[in-house]
Amino acid sequence: LLAVGALSYLWATPGVAPGFFDMFVLAFVERLFRPTYRKDDFVLGKKLGEGAFGVVYRVSLAKKPSSKKDGDLVLKKATEYGAVEIWMNERVRRACANSCADFLYGFLESSSKKGAEYWLIWRFEGEDTLADLTQRKEFPYNVETMILGEVQELPKGLERENAIIQTIMRQLLFALDGLHSTGIVHRDIKPQNVIFSEGSRTFKIIDLGAAADLRVGINYVPKEFLLDPRYAAPEQYIMSTQTPSAPSAPMAAALSPVLWQLNLPDRFDIYSAGLIFLQMAFPSIRSDSSLIQFKRQLKRCEYDLNEWRKSVEPRASPDLRRGFELLDLDGGVGWELLTSMVRYKARQRISAKGALAHPYFDREGILALSVMQ
Ligand code: ADP
Ligand code: MG
Repeated sequence: LLAVGALSYLWATPGVAPGFFDMFVLAFVERLFRPTYRKDDFVLGKKLGEGAFGVVYRVSLAKKPSSKKDGDLVLKKATEYGAVEIWMNERVRRACANSCADFLYGFLESSSKKGAEYWLIWRFEGEDTLADLTQRKEFPYNVETMILGEVQELPKGLERENAIIQTIMRQLLFALDGLHSTGIVHRDIKPQNVIFSEGSRTFKIIDLGAAADLRVGINYVPKEFLLDPRYAAPEQYIMSTQTPSAPSAPMAAALSPVLWQLNLPDRFDIYSAGLIFLQMAFPSIRSDSSLIQFKRQLKRCEYDLNEWRKSVEPRASPDLRRGFELLDLDGGVGWELLTSMVRYKARQRISAKGALAHPYFDREGILALSVMQ
């Protein structure tokens, strides 16, 4: 079994094989060696979230056998879409574990009163999502202390804020690059789905409930009704409507690397990540209503950020002007990166890997600031 496991691990390396081994062999072998959980293992704590497709709680273990990990956990009780979410989390766990919250186990719980539910268990990564952190007045300085673990003495100002935002963007793009290299498009990237992991002191992605794995054809048909209109890219379908819908899994596996190249579905997430970048640079665009207003303005400018800038800059508030100033630092590399992420045509948007190699990230971010000190 171990030999088969080792072999299939090689096969499941991202980009090597489209995931057959990963699906059938490795998944099976790995499950044999991992701790499993049952309904009665959990003591329900605080409710963390509730959506149309499930409820999320912080939970602790009723008793703590040594084989199971210590500390608090997160439980999502999901509807029928939970099956896909479990599949995505299992795949992420094996192919790009650092991109997302640490997934422990998923199972079908059929004894509940509401009928069958899927239960998903993660390690509790931390109290704050990026949405919680950006809503606070001290942002981005609150994030700096979380990542570095100490209060900095350097004077506050644009340079410093830019270095913190750059560090957050680098971590977010790194996580996205992991997902995309595995063939997964998240489709619901937004500050509420980016969690700060207190253990690793980095940002990780959560909520694979709307994700699609195009290399093996799981959730191939776009569930556009799942998409959050606040952060969704203008294209309604992440795959061209010309592509045949829902081929069988083997067909999709054969076709999808080609379809991926043709349609660049990953760029849907890049648009959403660009909006997060924008909101971090401009405090006045952080609320839902101001983001919706921004999207209306951008649409009027035919999704051209430079046109938008021309239209708002002459009568910009001091707050808005400060955002432009931040993005204009170092010869405008920040603005350049932002405009290459938020573009109407998916094809013209930069990839996650491309963005990580962008000159905006040439400096080391807040880690360099702390060394300078
Ligand atoms: P939903 O479908 O309700 O959006 P999410 O998976 O996004 O479900 O989880 C809802 C909320 O629960 C998140 O916004 C976050 O605050 C919290 N949460 C989810 N997973 C974790 C985790 N691993 N660690 C800590 N908090 C989490
Ligand atoms: Mg969510």
